[in-house]
Amino acid sequence: MKILFHICCSNCALYPVKLLRAEGHDFTGIWYNPNIQPVDEYRLRLASLKKLSDEWHIDIFYDEQYRPEEFLKSVNGFSQPAPERCKFCYTLRLEKAAAKARDEGFEAFSTTLLISPYQDFEQITVTGKKLANKYNLHFYMKDFRPYFRDAMSFAKELGLYRQKYCGCLFSKLERENAVKSEEILKARKKNTLPSNHQT
Ligand code: SF4
Repeated sequence: MKILFHICCSNCALYPVKLLRAEGHDFTGIWYNPNIQPVDEYRLRLASLKKLSDEWHIDIFYDEQYRPEEFLKSVNGFSQPAPERCKFCYTLRLEKAAAKARDEGFEAFSTTLLISPYQDFEQITVTGKKLANKYNLHFYMKDFRPYFRDAMSFAKELGLYRQKYCGCLFSKLERENAVKSEEILKARKKNTLPSNHQT
């Protein structure tokens, strides 16, 4: 089948590319991720995907212009907490892939987000199926999550950039706060912080 895959990052693309090629599908990618902030992070992830696509000869449509306002508009600025925010973020990116798939004559579309255990698999598939109806396409659905750990080790071997947070600034702050809380808990266990320490 001729499938257009939305690609969120190089690491998450590894197994979908490998597995689909092994199954005899025609894999093409599309890069559209206005959710990634700040711009330096966006460039790192994009460069890593280009490195992979050069080495593995993957055809990819790149929408490279950095437009975080498209993401912020879709999640209504600061007013959407996760997981509500992520629903809009999935729709924004998958709809771009679906529209491109229809315009370019693909039979199906999908997303590499399906490999990440940190994403909402059910919500992504609901969104994908809705868009498939709207654009008269198939949504290629496979649970790639069992390959996630191997994919991350493989990405390390290949020297790909491995990000530390999902993408938007909200997720960056959430990750930083979680790390900080963990450090405080560890410090408390070692009695190096007073129990009334506030952060
Ligand atoms: S946490 Fe990830 S999926 Fe959710 S809105 Fe942010 S970038 Fe999108």
